[in-house]
Amino acid sequence: MSAALLTGKALAGLIRQEVEEQARKLEADGVRPTLAVVVATDDSSTHWYVRSIKRAAESAGINCRIVDLGRDATGPVVASVLRDLSATASVHGIILQTPLPAGVRTEELVGHIAPEKDIDGANPLSLGRLAVGHRSFAPATARAVVELLDHFDIPVAGRNVVVVGRSAVVGKPLSLLLLQRDAAVTVCHSRSGPLEKYTRSADVVVVAAGRAGLLTGSHISNDAVVIDVGTNVLADGSLVGDVDDASVRDTAAALTPVPGGVGSVTTSLLLLHTIEAAREQSTALVREAVG
Ligand code: NAP
Repeated sequence: MSAALLTGKALAGLIRQEVEEQARKLEADGVRPTLAVVVATDDSSTHWYVRSIKRAAESAGINCRIVDLGRDATGPVVASVLRDLSATASVHGIILQTPLPAGVRTEELVGHIAPEKDIDGANPLSLGRLAVGHRSFAPATARAVVELLDHFDIPVAGRNVVVVGRSAVVGKPLSLLLLQRDAAVTVCHSRSGPLEKYTRSADVVVVAAGRAGLLTGSHISNDAVVIDVGTNVLADGSLVGDVDDASVRDTAAALTPVPGGVGSVTTSLLLLHTIEAAREQSTALVREAVG
């Protein structure tokens, strides 16, 4: 048996269409949706990634401001820029791009992003709101996983879903999104013991560990759906996920490829979140004006 490939391109295209349509409507209402990406590194692959977000945003009708603070930026400078952007009415969404300079800790800075502009769910308040079911932006990657499952009509309610990884950017928010959809969720991590103890009986396995080849065919059952969030660059420069592609393809019922799976949906969702943020902020302004 060979697993069906759950590619992200068609879904990304549908989301992009929605973004373009909503951006046109906002523009007609006098609102130009605007995303600010704060960068503080000279890492060339990060700059390449940020430029790709800018290109995608602008081709969909969203302004994108790259705020480049340089590789020597200090924590207080980054914090002050995030507070200024949070207070700027014409900016609707903010991303703090990692990596940051040595010694500057992301988790100490993301709290300076206003929750209503936190379109990649980085502020701990966003995760807290997600945990109790209040409106907030989930990290785009976590939402990309549930959108992909929906797109391919893969149900999770009442099913056994294992998430490998418990980071605040992927594993934890994803487990909350899956709980909201009534899945029975198990979260594994580096101390949870042999993976197969959990993954062999899972209907859906999501791997977000950042370890190439971590999940093999022997870890899963024949009818499992496997979602590979991992991105690992090998010594030869190629990009692979956390799944041992050959053995899992032979065993699983369905699998997301890397590249071309979860990652291809993530950028489109960042743009959709920017549109949603612009709509909510402009509606709130009108409400304030009306009194
Ligand atoms: P992270 O902060 O390093 O967290 C990795 C998680 O995996 C941790 O919870 C860790 O457990 C767990 N883990 C590591 N080794 C393990 C093992 N051998 N068995 C079980 N669990 C293990 O990474 P992240 O930011 O969540 O990212 C995870 C992966 O997703 C990375 O490859 C990253 O590049 C990728 N990613 C992709 C996208 C996308 O759009 N496609 C976006 C974001 C991230 P402990 O907590 O016990 O250390």
